[in-house]
Amino acid sequence: MTQINVQPGIMEIALYQGGQSALAGVTEVVKLSSNENPYGPSEATKAAFAQSGLALHRYPGTDHAGLRAAIAEVHGLDAERIVCGVGSDEVLQFVAQSFAGPGDEIIYTEHGFSMYPILAHACGATPVKVAEKERVVDVDAILAACNAKTRIVFIANPGNPTATMLAADEVARLADGLPASALLVLDGAYAEFVEGYDGGAALVEARSNVIMTRTFSKIYGLGGLRIGWGYAPKEVIDVLNRVRQPFNLSDVQLQTAEAAVRDQEFMRWCRSENTRLGAWLSEALRAAGVEVDESFTNFILARFASPEEADSCDEALKAEGILVRKVGGYGLPNCLRITIGDERACRRVAHTVKQFKRVEA
Ligand code: PMP
Repeated sequence: MTQINVQPGIMEIALYQGGQSALAGVTEVVKLSSNENPYGPSEATKAAFAQSGLALHRYPGTDHAGLRAAIAEVHGLDAERIVCGVGSDEVLQFVAQSFAGPGDEIIYTEHGFSMYPILAHACGATPVKVAEKERVVDVDAILAACNAKTRIVFIANPGNPTATMLAADEVARLADGLPASALLVLDGAYAEFVEGYDGGAALVEARSNVIMTRTFSKIYGLGGLRIGWGYAPKEVIDVLNRVRQPFNLSDVQLQTAEAAVRDQEFMRWCRSENTRLGAWLSEALRAAGVEVDESFTNFILARFASPEEADSCDEALKAEGILVRKVGGYGLPNCLRITIGDERACRRVAHTVKQFKRVEA
């Protein structure tokens, strides 16, 4: 009989739990469980998608030059320092695979994105979980956890599922305090929702140990397309391109994403709608008696009195066809993560939570 030799760490991986997308017996669910853009991609993006990828028998380009040039132009960055991947998840994977292995440590934080420990185990490294301070990344705690084995520190800024943001000077202090062996990965999946925030791009340019990742899955409404990118020092990009599969992205993905990044007007409209509705929904939830921190993202972390109350509210929302995300697996059992949907979805959430709290009281 074949003996299956699984690589070290793989069996430690807890399978990723995606947001629920269907409810038995409900045809029209309000899906607020995966931080997707409720409006979908822009018209220009949809048109580019419809016109792209017709040469099914041809391989796509391998250097992603067109998309990298568009990203560089729009963001004022150096195209030579950009790498594109199948979602930012794949870029994060390139980083883990390239810079960490058995015997090494990868730091992530208490309420950090669940892919970080998965990626650490997948490359045989040891994930090290560090406490946060009131749901915000704690720089001192991370620096205290670093040692000569630390290779990568993953933080999302803004954070998921906390929706909080670490101040720029704190991020710089973290980068400067890391041991020489370690790289700081700033995961900017939600960066566009914060007006005027560069996701850490300037820090990447000013330091040799910082990598930024970004995605088309959130504000650009392209979660289904699977495309993300990273910005890093040239030497790091050179390494990431060696592990990247040459044909990791199809022309459909590349051309659609290029149209998306060029449509900044749509991006700004999505951000302003998100800001407006996020503020409204946060206030409505607070008025209903739920605790809510300021959100820097396209979701709200609603904090209830107990895990039981959070679970009951989740049931009450489900009874109305509304799907949100339980975040007990992120160390937040008394919370629900609610994506900021369109106006109608926000009103339905507010109404349902209000009714729920009234019955509970
Ligand atoms: N980082 C964070 C913090 C996220 O929330 C997500 C999506 N849930 C990702 C990365 C990955 O996004 P994608 O692979 O779709 O780019």
